[in-house]
Amino acid sequence: MTDSSAPTVYVETYGCQMNVSDSELMLGKLSAAGYVPVDQPDGADVILVNTCAIRDHAEQRVLGRLGELKRHMKKDSVMGVTGCMAQRLGPQLLEKAKHVSIVIGPDGYRALPQLVDGARRGRKSINTTFDLEEHYEDFTPRRFDKVKAWIPVQRGCDYRCTYCIVPTTRGSERSRKLDDVVRETHGVVAEGMSEVVLLGQTVNSYSDGTHDFADLLRAVGGVPGIRRVRYTSPHPNDFSDRVIAAMAEVPAVCEHVHLPMQSGSTRTLRRMLRRYSREGYMECVEKIRRAIPGVTLTTDIIVGFPGETDDEFEETLSAVREIGFADAYTFIFSPREGTPATRMPEESFVPADVASHRLQTLVDTVRTASRARNMGLLGTRHEVLVEREAKRGEAMLMTRTRDFKTVLVPGDASMLGQYLTVELTGTTGSTFTGAVVRERMPLPMAG
Ligand code: SF4
Repeated sequence: MTDSSAPTVYVETYGCQMNVSDSELMLGKLSAAGYVPVDQPDGADVILVNTCAIRDHAEQRVLGRLGELKRHMKKDSVMGVTGCMAQRLGPQLLEKAKHVSIVIGPDGYRALPQLVDGARRGRKSINTTFDLEEHYEDFTPRRFDKVKAWIPVQRGCDYRCTYCIVPTTRGSERSRKLDDVVRETHGVVAEGMSEVVLLGQTVNSYSDGTHDFADLLRAVGGVPGIRRVRYTSPHPNDFSDRVIAAMAEVPAVCEHVHLPMQSGSTRTLRRMLRRYSREGYMECVEKIRRAIPGVTLTTDIIVGFPGETDDEFEETLSAVREIGFADAYTFIFSPREGTPATRMPEESFVPADVASHRLQTLVDTVRTASRARNMGLLGTRHEVLVEREAKRGEAMLMTRTRDFKTVLVPGDASMLGQYLTVELTGTTGSTFTGAVVRERMPLPMAG
């Protein structure tokens, strides 16, 4: 029975899965301190906005949202900004948004209850100190999802891609102990879930000093009750033979790899400091495909990076055609203050109209190829996990195959978390519709 006098907290999350996982940690920490999470900002005692700094657009959106959220505040409500934008801007945020009283970076959530209590007594505070030991091991995440669990296995990043703000906002790379990740995975199964997504900026460079990512995949995949293991985001350079062998040999590891390419041109990759060439990336794709036939690949690509010529862009298109990605997250280069790319010669910056045109050409190229491939899959049968009720229309469920296809099937919320066999009946090009062939009851609980 919720204590109605208990203070309430509303958390709004922007950005990547790592931020979603951090919001779950923050809600767990505050719940343990007596705060009651609510899913609407109206009248909440505490409003936290967990932010992303990956593109300027993301930050502008948050600044606008902070203004909107002010209208939902009671006289004594407090508002805090957390995450990468908080880490990047720190005290500037208290200037830009006077109604904000707490600014906390990704390593500062341990002090959250004290800082929130202080703010409720009128004290403003900033905590953007990096803590390279911090993994919030004693926090109990309050998970948003009831079907799959985000499990952070690493924080920070040691790469220095010239366009990326993450090393500045999340610090250098450090990994959790394998035993702690396995302990959390047992907890996830006990909560009734059978799928985990391992999170890290370059998750496959995981190392706790004794174990590497291959060990981690085998250990997590071996937990009774775990049927699906996914991970994001890997770096092409960290797919060692050991890691690829584990991906191929551990039954729970799903046949999907999100493999950021960023560009298909070695010259552009060099200016991005991605530390691999076009050939190196292609080799990585080949190694993965040899070990896991039929594996689905998706990717991230940036167009309009400073100095990108028509020929270099054409190399990106030819790589996309050659590899045949199932899908791609595509972006126009966004200069981030403090990143080396912003110090590249002014004249090397790609005009906005050229960049937009390239983006459209790229999107069309990816979609045309994936649509043709997906049309060829109609009539095939797949195991899916029911993840949530579909946004579009009623009595439709959003389900996911092992190789990351989205399939909409008829059904209701009582089927969440179930595994079904479906036959693909239609496609929009990226999303499928399906008919349930046979319902497979979820495996009995572990332990
Ligand atoms: S690998 Fe590169 S793009 Fe990815 S988080 Fe690290 S610095 Fe950023």
